[in-house]
Amino acid sequence: MTTPDVRAYEHVVPEPRPYAHRAPEPASGAPRATPPRGGGGFDPETARRDIPVLHRTVNGHPLAWLDNGATTQKPRQVIEALGAYYGTANSNIHRGAHTMAREATETYEAGRAAVAGLLGAASPDSIVFTRGTTEAVNLVAQSWGRANIGPGDEILVPVLEHHSNIVPWQMLAKEKHARLLPVPLLADGSIDQDAFADLLSFRTQLVAVSHASNVLGTVPPVREMTALAHRYGAKVLVDGAQAVAHFPVDVAELGADFYVFSGHKLFAPTGIGALYGKPGVLAGMPPWQGGGNMIDQVDFAGSTYAPVPHRFEAGTGHISGVAGLLAAVDWLAGFDRDAVAAYEKGLLAYAEQAMAAVPGLEILGSAPGKIAVLTFTLAGHDPAEIAQWLDQDGIAVRAGHHCAQPSLRHYGVESAARASFALYNTAEEVDRLVASLVRLREQPAA
Ligand code: PLP
Repeated sequence: MTTPDVRAYEHVVPEPRPYAHRAPEPASGAPRATPPRGGGGFDPETARRDIPVLHRTVNGHPLAWLDNGATTQKPRQVIEALGAYYGTANSNIHRGAHTMAREATETYEAGRAAVAGLLGAASPDSIVFTRGTTEAVNLVAQSWGRANIGPGDEILVPVLEHHSNIVPWQMLAKEKHARLLPVPLLADGSIDQDAFADLLSFRTQLVAVSHASNVLGTVPPVREMTALAHRYGAKVLVDGAQAVAHFPVDVAELGADFYVFSGHKLFAPTGIGALYGKPGVLAGMPPWQGGGNMIDQVDFAGSTYAPVPHRFEAGTGHISGVAGLLAAVDWLAGFDRDAVAAYEKGLLAYAEQAMAAVPGLEILGSAPGKIAVLTFTLAGHDPAEIAQWLDQDGIAVRAGHHCAQPSLRHYGVESAARASFALYNTAEEVDRLVASLVRLREQPAA
């Protein structure tokens, strides 16, 4: 593929800015955490330089994008891949006899192989493209779930799950007269492993658990939970929506039966994501949507279906989305992933300490090993007001229930603000966030 001309947005990429803000001193009198500046194998500036939108201003200030839990920003390699696909190679896939159909098919299947590589899956045939995490969970619920869950069966779902990993199971349980059992959390937002072990039984058919919580940042011990669930013959689905961008994933090592994620939380376009299924499990599942692409033979007397993964990809897929996802996976592979994880860990430690110095600020979730997500409340200030205030300073955070109401209720709140970080965020942005929150606190009451 040739690369389209992307000079159109080059004017928005300025030189890196000097650090201009300082956070308040730690309230505890403890020494200030060292602001991570890159080095050690990863420099966030190398990532920032690739991402045009990070260099725009919002309300007169440089953008600080701290809403990565909702979606991540896109490197120019991804933007270019979309342009190159539509500019030089647009075609439907798999059926065509012509050159462009072949090229588009090669891109699509290269994307599948790249996702298999990203997740440590042995074969691309274990990867099904979906619209994202939500559709992948629904696919498993409708296909595997309807075929395998019956009256009296149990599905275990930790309280920290995103609504997309609760509601599809609730719907399935209702239809099949099965039971959905919440696995409680401890005070720090980690999953109560004793309660999990107690809830598991031979009635358990499925455990659906996040690899990282979008609200609390908790990273559950998925490998150990999977091994325990397997002793009871239960299957395990892991929601990797918040994990894949933060640390390397290896489905073989986790042992999970299903792993799902969304491309847009991994620097790729919206509308594309993937389901990994263990080969033996996927092959035994019935189709969930009927149509073109997913069939072997069609006759009015009955139809036969394509082998996996195509059996689960009815209709024309999001081909350009796969081209973008392929570019995003390649872009990420250009960094030392362990060094990225170490950098984010340093950024989290720095941000936790700086935010704790803001009077009245409370962070929800402190499980050891959490990802760089800081959900917080600020006494006397509604989360929506906090987000609007920060937006005036060019800082994007999210406010609300974050599609994880049970997680928030664990802390007795219905709504909170959330700053969620990615590899391209910096200590300077943390300082700006904290300085802005301090100014909000200093406002005279309305
Ligand atoms: N699971 C988790 C942990 C998430 O954070 C999200 C989105 O925020 C989802 C699932 C749903 O992802 P999508 O809306 O891309 O399907």
